[in-house]
Amino acid sequence: MSVVYLDNNATTQVAPEVLGAMLPFFGNYYGNPSSMHTFGGQVAKKIHEARERAAALIGAHPDEIIFTSCGTESDNAAIRSALYTAPEKRHIVTSRVEHPAVRALCAHLAGQGYRVTELPVDKDGRLDMEQYERSLTSDTAVVSLMWANNETGAVFPVEEAAGLARERGILFHTDAVQAVGKIPIDMKQNTIDMLSISGHKLHGPKGIGILYIRKGTKFFPFMIGGHQERERRGGTENTPSIVGLGKACELARSNIDRENTYVRQLRDRLEATLLKKIPRSRINGDTFHRLPNTSNISFEYVEGEGILLMMDQYGICASSGSACTSGSLQPSHVLRAMGVPFTMAHGSVRFSLSVYTTEEEIDFVIEKLPPIIERLRSMSPYWDPEKEAGHVT
Ligand code: PLP
Repeated sequence: MSVVYLDNNATTQVAPEVLGAMLPFFGNYYGNPSSMHTFGGQVAKKIHEARERAAALIGAHPDEIIFTSCGTESDNAAIRSALYTAPEKRHIVTSRVEHPAVRALCAHLAGQGYRVTELPVDKDGRLDMEQYERSLTSDTAVVSLMWANNETGAVFPVEEAAGLARERGILFHTDAVQAVGKIPIDMKQNTIDMLSISGHKLHGPKGIGILYIRKGTKFFPFMIGGHQERERRGGTENTPSIVGLGKACELARSNIDRENTYVRQLRDRLEATLLKKIPRSRINGDTFHRLPNTSNISFEYVEGEGILLMMDQYGICASSGSACTSGSLQPSHVLRAMGVPFTMAHGSVRFSLSVYTTEEEIDFVIEKLPPIIERLRSMSPYWDPEKEAGHVT
């Protein structure tokens, strides 16, 4: 059975070019980039090239890029550093819809005595910027707001938010794990101090990430050890993954237009057709400010898990809630924060496309999903087809 992979916000396939770039570093190029000899030095050069490629993707300087082990490490390193370098301040501002890499860390920090403001979102997953501004105080050490939401694709106005933080001398971090490679980002155009990236969300390998740290930002390392990454992250470099991520960044840069035309058009067609064919379905999340690849759709009176299991029989891969929260029967914290009604939140499915998604795959989902929902609804005690006959969503 072939796979129709529409779960690219959970993880992406490693691009063949990325794999090709990585393989030599499991073979002949095994030198330590910190070594004095030429054999290690040639590896250091490749790491430098990867750093340049990563920097180019987000309009940064290569010195502002440090390689980490994942997006989660980047988020932890940024927030902990901000707190460490401003010990007199005890307040953190974040949102209710962050990924656990930020949310669980902030909950942990609250347990350590920090005051955490979790900003609410409206029914479309949008922030209230006036409320955000009011939350910033002289005691605020750091703001951490995600650039794009992993479950709904909703995009926060982080550049505007960073400007407001900068005016008050507050450090601003953004978890841009889902945004980088999908929407254009130019760090020369904003005042964001730190930004997190994860390799496996942009067709790079798993277990590699980036923390962008703007020049001049005070930083205290999360990983203390050797002199790697200019003393900002100890540990011998994960050379194959760094080289792979560099290649992935280069590809993402050249694919960004395709992401915003081809992928967006496929996503829009999927979404519009499903909404038309399936009554009592709706989109979760800001439809205007949204990643081009993400569609979170609720199908009322069915369980997301049931939909996933039946789609799985056709090889269709998607998620209900985020990959990290599925397995729990609670609707996701993101949909709850948006106030999505319980019967809708339970039947939510996230489709996330990539540049490798084809027209045929979208046609296949459009063909298979409506009968799946119909079948599941026919088993639901709450679904009354006669009552629904005249209903228009
Ligand atoms: N932040 C967001 C928004 C994510 O979607 C993810 C992964 O799902 C992460 C952080 C964590 O990244 P990683 O898996 O590289 O630790």
